Amino acid sequence: MLKAQCHCGDVKLSTPDLPSDITRCNCSICNRIGAVWAYYPANTVTIEAKALSTYEWGQKTMQFHRCNKCGCTTHYTSVEDNGYKQIAINTKMSEPDQIKSILIRDFDGADTWQYLDSKNA
Ligand SMILES: [Zn+2]
Repeated sequence: MLKAQCHCGDVKLSTPDLPSDITRCNCSICNRIGAVWAYYPANTVTIEAKALSTYEWGQKTMQFHRCNKCGCTTHYTSVEDNGYKQIAINTKMSEPDQIKSILIRDFDGADTWQYLDSKNA
């Protein structure tokens, strides 16, 4: 089980399984947030949230969710497409002990849209 919660505890997320790897992306928003993402099908994630704000821009393919009280960005969701909706949980909202053994992969969302560890594969 992966658990994540914002700083004040008003937003909590949990999943049945730990991810096999997590992603650090350098795109314009992920770089600012400093998030490290774990991806799941949205219907496998339990969310308890008192009050969330969302942010989207450009083509509005993703919605970033943050706690209204403490401002932490806890997750983003894909805007539904082809019947599959993805959620990305910000593992920076998890206890460090819970994720310390999980591989972090760097994704070049700013430029090539590839994982940097697979560029030469
Ligand atoms: Zn909060």
